[in-house]
Amino acid sequence: MNRKQTKKIGDDFLKTVLDTHIHTVACNHAYSTIGENAASAKSKGLELICITEHGPKLPGGPHPYYFANIKVVPPELEGVKILKGIESNIMDTSGGLDLPPQYKNKMEIILAGLHSKCFSPGSKRENTKAVIKAMENDFVDIIVHIGNPAYELDYPDVLKAAKDTNTLIEINNSSFVHSRKGSYDNCFNVAKECMKREIMISLGSDAHIASDVGEFGVAKKILDVIEFPQELVINTSVSKLTKYLESKGRVLFVDPRENTNQ
Ligand SMILES: [Zn+2]
Ligand SMILES: [Zn+2]
Repeated sequence: MNRKQTKKIGDDFLKTVLDTHIHTVACNHAYSTIGENAASAKSKGLELICITEHGPKLPGGPHPYYFANIKVVPPELEGVKILKGIESNIMDTSGGLDLPPQYKNKMEIILAGLHSKCFSPGSKRENTKAVIKAMENDFVDIIVHIGNPAYELDYPDVLKAAKDTNTLIEINNSSFVHSRKGSYDNCFNVAKECMKREIMISLGSDAHIASDVGEFGVAKKILDVIEFPQELVINTSVSKLTKYLESKGRVLFVDPRENTNQ
């Protein structure tokens, strides 16, 4: 019997328990708090969310102190595990990020990506160099929304670097719904290449409002259509993500209550 005739494409194909890319009111263009995002995650059966606020150089991004003080956020809210992170901006072709170096070790997960207000789209060579150099920072865990057609990239080179540097590649569901119009074909091809090269991917909702947390509908459909192996999707188990981050030296679920000065 044909598998496609017996099941719905997309959602039923892949059970996801975590979301690696979420914004809050701490940046000026998102509309929910960490608590609201956690409550939404709980209602959808998620076990973990990553709060990954924009780096300080993006207009509306939080002041660097936001990242210094993120230690006050507890490791669990509404029964959902919380990882404290950043979506840092790639600033130049050397892969420099807007993550203040003194806060690097406070982050439990570090995303990096190109945003036009911080890095104007350059030539294919310049864009590719910026992304590869960013991945060569050993603290970068995930490169986000590389399907964005505004930035022409040499995908074989970028994906080779992802494999060599053990960096996850994000399939960003918001790119199909709210932003970065025209990302679909690139993302489809990136997913296929990741499958071929056995590169681990991460699904990110890039939610800017709580109702979008954990929404991976189009991304999942792509994975279903190409029969992407579930073992290469980091979102299927909390331990898969935490093992990956711990292998990069991260200390996770730091509890502020265990960090008093008394
Ligand atoms: Zn972004
Ligand atoms: Zn984002």
